Amino acid sequence: MPLRRVEHCIHLYNSHHQEEAVKKWKQALRKISNKQERFATLGYLAAAYCDWGKYRDMLIYSIHQIDLANEADNCYMRAEAYLNLARSNELLSDYHKAVCYCRHSLQNPPKDPRCHGYVYMCQGNAYFGFSKFTTAIENYERAMQIAAQTHDKALELQILGALGAFYITLHDTERGLSYHTKAADLAKGFNICDLGSKYQRVTTINMATPLRRIGRLSEALEYCEEAMKMAQEAGDRPVQAKCLTCYADIHRAKNEPEKAYSRYEAALGIMTEIGDRHGQCLVLSNMAKTLVLLKESQKVCDCQKRRKKTGESAYPKAIDLNQKALTVAIQIGNKLYQMRCHQRMEEHYRCLGDSDKAEEHQELAQRLLNEMELTCTICGTDFSHSDTQLEVMPCSHIFHARCTPLLMSRGSSRKRYCPRCRSSVINRPTLV
Ligand SMILES: [Zn+2]
Ligand SMILES: [Zn+2]
Repeated sequence: MPLRRVEHCIHLYNSHHQEEAVKKWKQALRKISNKQERFATLGYLAAAYCDWGKYRDMLIYSIHQIDLANEADNCYMRAEAYLNLARSNELLSDYHKAVCYCRHSLQNPPKDPRCHGYVYMCQGNAYFGFSKFTTAIENYERAMQIAAQTHDKALELQILGALGAFYITLHDTERGLSYHTKAADLAKGFNICDLGSKYQRVTTINMATPLRRIGRLSEALEYCEEAMKMAQEAGDRPVQAKCLTCYADIHRAKNEPEKAYSRYEAALGIMTEIGDRHGQCLVLSNMAKTLVLLKESQKVCDCQKRRKKTGESAYPKAIDLNQKALTVAIQIGNKLYQMRCHQRMEEHYRCLGDSDKAEEHQELAQRLLNEMELTCTICGTDFSHSDTQLEVMPCSHIFHARCTPLLMSRGSSRKRYCPRCRSSVINRPTLV
């Protein structure tokens, strides 16, 4: 099949005939001998499997691309292949490899100037996965600069989504919601018949989480239902898993633990299937919280004897789930999730009257907290516990928004420094 035909399949793919397009690309791959054409076809296949959430297949096509790039000794091909390799590893929550391949990609000049924008975004996601928040923000900022220079709205939309997730994870839900709203508005500009529909699904489900957090449950449910419908039509497993998690979160917020638990189990099944360990960690943690909720709801209506019985059985099970979540968090290197697992286990052991174990987990949580720089050095208290607005300095260090005016009022404007790195903070943050 000549390259013209291979490219014709893009049209097929974009007009909702994805399986047919992928089949033709695979057939083409058997016949094409030209390295550049093989490379392009492998790229389309990697992108298609990425859309379906089949990250392990995406990884395989990316490895074929690297082999071809090395055979051809072509730096443009290397830049693109390493990006695909980094992206598939990032989506499989293998953040060490993702960072390593991002570096390789950045060492090669890309043919398409947008390529490095995607690399910086991927690197940002990987550092965020490691809970290295300052480095993540630095990378998102670089990615955003390239998105602006190249007028790449698809890249901008994805960075906005990443920033939304970043702030929601650190419990600045309001700012998270504002980034997701901007991303959803951008997605409306994409043609519904092309690949943009993928962005519609992702931006729609992303709106649900912050709305659920701030208690706007019926709006969250509407977004969730809309995203689920689109994801089912497109066979988009990652978005389906996110929708199930969000349905479960809404049930948990409505104090319906049984319904929540079964939805979490379904989400966990998909996440295991697609290899999303970051998602598994979050779902296992939420399942543990649901068990405790289940125990508390039974406490209200049951007799004294039953209460004691369920109370005793809920905590060991919750500890078990937290331990599973902790194991995954350690595997992927996510310190924030590790800390939160230890904090919950500390509480559970206290409820069971085991103060030695409780103190052990408390110490481990404290150690992780210190390692992550999650303390606002202006007021000396931690963020990421309760919902609060945050502010990112030009140096990418993070503080409470309520504390930064204090910093600004100190000394003359020329002597205002970031308390963490001593760099000047005269300029306001660029990402806001
Ligand atoms: Zn503070
Ligand atoms: Zn700083």
